[in-house]
Amino acid sequence: MTIKSIQIHKGGCHCGRVRYQATGEPVIVAHCHCEDCQRLSGTGHTTGAMFAIENFQLDGEMSEYTLEADNGNRVTKAFCPTCGSPILGRNSGSPGFVTVGVGTFDDSSTVTPQVTIFARNRKSWDAMDEQVLTFDAQPDWKPGNG
Ligand SMILES: [Zn+2]
Ligand SMILES: [Zn+2]
Repeated sequence: MTIKSIQIHKGGCHCGRVRYQATGEPVIVAHCHCEDCQRLSGTGHTTGAMFAIENFQLDGEMSEYTLEADNGNRVTKAFCPTCGSPILGRNSGSPGFVTVGVGTFDDSSTVTPQVTIFARNRKSWDAMDEQVLTFDAQPDWKPGNG
């Protein structure tokens, strides 16, 4: 019998005031090209790893910004008030989960994105891996149902 080591993803913001630890494999890792992600990140897409909230420990104070997504869900983005690093988002459509920006992991090289969403809003300068399962908008998916 082999004992599989449990993945621990440590990370934090650029200035170091916010640190976190996420335990276990992410529920899903997704690229998102929606307009909200583009504007809030200042880039072509975000890449987020979703974890159950009980597997996520935060150390530090964050500022929050809440917006209403096109589908009516409330999305809350949390970021470092000092350096502005976008740490995580919560979505009223997936209560009990946080989506962590993988660029804030101390080592994001182990992350494997599984899906690309809102590809209809992808810009031509933001080339992506076409091997990744791609959806024009948001698939009807919630954590727990596949
Ligand atoms: Zn910071
Ligand atoms: Zn998005």
